[in-house]
Amino acid sequence: MKNPLLETEGLPAFNFIRPEHVEAAVQQTLDQQRAKLRQTEKIAAVTFESAEELERIQDVIHRVWSPIAHLNAVLSTPELRDAYNNCLPMIAEFSTEMAQNGTLYALYSQLEQDIDPAEKIKLRLLSHTLRDFRLSGVSLPEEERVRFKHLVMELSQRQAAFEQNLMDATDAFKHHEVNEEALVGIPDMVLRRAKELAKAQGHSGWLLTLDPPTYLAVITHAKNEDLRAHYYEAWVTRASDQGPQAGRWDNRPLIEKIASLRHESALLLGFNNYAEFSLATKMAGTPEEVFEFLQNLAEKSKPVARAELEDLSEFAGRAVEPWNVAYYSEQLKQTRFGLADDELRPYFPLPRVLQGLFKVVEKLFGLKIRANYGIDAWHPDVTYYEVCAEDKSPIGGVFTDFFARPNKRGGAWMDECLVRCKLEGLNQQPVAYLVCNFNPPVDSDPSLLTHDDVVTLFHEFGHTLHHLLTEVDYPSLSGINGVPWDAVELPSQFLENYAWLPEVLPWISGHYQTGQPLPAETLATLNATRTFQAGLSMVRQIEFALFDFRLHAEYVPDQGSRAEEILARTRQEVAVMEVPSFNRFPNTFSHVFGGSYAAGYYSYKWAEVLAADVFSAFEEKGSFDPETAKHFRNCILATGGSRDAMDVFKEFRGRAPSLDPLLRQTGIQLEG
Ligand SMILES: [Zn+2]
Repeated sequence: MKNPLLETEGLPAFNFIRPEHVEAAVQQTLDQQRAKLRQTEKIAAVTFESAEELERIQDVIHRVWSPIAHLNAVLSTPELRDAYNNCLPMIAEFSTEMAQNGTLYALYSQLEQDIDPAEKIKLRLLSHTLRDFRLSGVSLPEEERVRFKHLVMELSQRQAAFEQNLMDATDAFKHHEVNEEALVGIPDMVLRRAKELAKAQGHSGWLLTLDPPTYLAVITHAKNEDLRAHYYEAWVTRASDQGPQAGRWDNRPLIEKIASLRHESALLLGFNNYAEFSLATKMAGTPEEVFEFLQNLAEKSKPVARAELEDLSEFAGRAVEPWNVAYYSEQLKQTRFGLADDELRPYFPLPRVLQGLFKVVEKLFGLKIRANYGIDAWHPDVTYYEVCAEDKSPIGGVFTDFFARPNKRGGAWMDECLVRCKLEGLNQQPVAYLVCNFNPPVDSDPSLLTHDDVVTLFHEFGHTLHHLLTEVDYPSLSGINGVPWDAVELPSQFLENYAWLPEVLPWISGHYQTGQPLPAETLATLNATRTFQAGLSMVRQIEFALFDFRLHAEYVPDQGSRAEEILARTRQEVAVMEVPSFNRFPNTFSHVFGGSYAAGYYSYKWAEVLAADVFSAFEEKGSFDPETAKHFRNCILATGGSRDAMDVFKEFRGRAPSLDPLLRQTGIQLEG
């Protein structure tokens, strides 16, 4: 039988894909595309067709790789995982071959000179690709290029080691408890797991771990302050010279090394520091712009955060230390709102929510969405939806996979199954995967969501719209591709707003047994919870973002990273609460030292500001104002990476982004 992964048309045949197909398909595809790459390199007359050929090559590889990576995430088996892992080096090798290809770099440079400047999208494609070439060091003299490659490799090893230390330190911590009294308040589910673990290791009582859900459960719900303090200390001293495991897996030397490697690699490429390097692919222009952005937000939020802390202390009847914040906040929230997340579940049955969500996007963008049950998928829970324009012409599709099950990665995400690609002889429409981990239906009852789940669904559907409503024909710029990291969360965070609108709630809610809508007073309470302690959460995020950005912008080789000094200065400016001297937050900051958020943590806040500002245009004109919706679709959703993110924002809003809408939305700044 033919290898289903090698089909070049239609949707992937998920039901027929087996682990034994994986390596063969990837190997064969890479060989074929490599041959095409060689041919393209040899063409003497340089025309834009060569660039199109490279778009095609990358799309063919994506077409094969996307279902493999997806299945590995949602329906993993040991065989599939092995096959997937065996392919990773092959894929990485091919990407490096493309990114470091001097011949292609010369070809694109020539094309950029020859192209008619009126061909804006083509020009964008070339300049984007050239930028990425430069950022991978291709244009450096031989010796420097070799050094750059070495730095990149060493960096990825050190970052992985940072992550590994943190994981080992987290896993090694155990708290053994035999006195049930000491565990009062901690949710049953966590205690049940702790009891099983103790039993499995031959202990009586409970064995509590330090994984994030357990840590959160203890710090938020445990009545026992000593236990909370113990957990806090263990958490903020992981992989450091302090706390219960002081000196084991200390990440401090790695922080130094990573900061230094990043700085050197940025200098090689001609930047003054790694923060500038990070911004080369982002919407924010200069480090000064980022600093000003964060400092402005901090200045506005700090008084509110301070007042919230005072409010909390008053409620607690004492000064609130860091290990008591989550606990008293939860108590305060319960007292003030009396609204538990789970209470709302009966009002949000998934089929009802989905129907309401589709109604929202139909009203906004005229889209028609309907299920097609005849499409082959990877699991019986999966549904394929066709998405059509107002005139019924098909736009693309989305596979939804909503329920938690074993062998499925946690969390929620949107990913690309097929990317829009319109080239000579090829007219491929976009198709998305929308994956969540909601509670599955039980017996005849539907899946019942919390309002948090509902917001998550709207968020991921915002990404889906970005992917589907693109009008760009080149895959490297269509949908979310080529969109800067600090702008890519705009459509998702924008759509979240609709999950809170009083006019939308009746569409998405209805008691699963009685059909009753959400009572009006519950609705009001729900809306009030949205801004609960928004100031405290804002200053915490700004502290992280500012620390990350400073560390990379202010690096001086002979002084090292100065992580503690920079953090202390940042906290002085931004934070409203003292932390104990044993706190080693940088040693646990894996977004920045283990992952790819270096000098980019600010992106979370940046995109939030954009999304709130876009939504404020709808608040002014009406949540479903057709003109505003059309304008938004044309400026932002349709253009993907084909235009400058700041330009399209300004075109939509008629001005540069403003902080005010976010500050209003979070209740930090009052109306008017
Ligand atoms: Zn997102």
